[in-house]
Amino acid sequence: MHEHASPRQAIETMIRGNDLPGLLRHAESIHGHLCPFLALGVKAGRHAMAYLDQENTGMEEVVAIVECNNCFTDGIQVITGCTFGNNGLIYQDLGKTAVTVARRVDGAAVRLVVHPDFREHMFSRYPAAGPLFEKVVVQHQGTPEDLHRFHHLWEGVARRELEEVPLEEQFLIETLTIRLPSYARILATEICARCGEGVMESRIRIQAGQKVCLACAGEEYFQLTGQGIGCSREV
Ligand SMILES: [Zn+2]
Ligand SMILES: [Zn+2]
Repeated sequence: MHEHASPRQAIETMIRGNDLPGLLRHAESIHGHLCPFLALGVKAGRHAMAYLDQENTGMEEVVAIVECNNCFTDGIQVITGCTFGNNGLIYQDLGKTAVTVARRVDGAAVRLVVHPDFREHMFSRYPAAGPLFEKVVVQHQGTPEDLHRFHHLWEGVARRELEEVPLEEQFLIETLTIRLPSYARILATEICARCGEGVMESRIRIQAGQKVCLACAGEEYFQLTGQGIGCSREV
């Protein structure tokens, strides 16, 4: 057997070396911007991976269960290597900035949930950030200068939350053992009789004796959007 460097080697090395700025840089490249909740995701992911001491090659060695789809989740995906595409990421639509990261071999896990007072404490550490956040992000009423100022300030907040504020002040942390869901199933592909596209067999419906996809069948299917998981239907 020959040695084959994992493409995640750089990230795994940064996890072991607790190189938070380096890890944040990786996370920014998929998130597109730098913000405090991305920094929190990076920090939580780093803590969990160091605790579990399990390399992840995207073969479900590690599973991350997130309870929200916000900036935090992108930090988790990059650092833990548990993604939507490799089935290592499980999404629970609970609306909490929280994650449980588990090692499949024995179910050892750690859950981190952002402290209920976190927002209040964060804004009190950076008094200029609160009003600007309200104006620019919540009310969408910032001028271009406000927006520019906000981005600078917000990046500064993210870096300080990453490197200067202790993890224990930001998160409630517990270790536990969980039962993991089964490995992702590999299913056959069928061809929809109407649109001719390939479809996973579990998503095929029979209509008038024909195999059709949910979209062609006009049936409801689940959709994850910024609103969370909901039902949708082709119109
Ligand atoms: Zn963000
Ligand atoms: Zn179809």
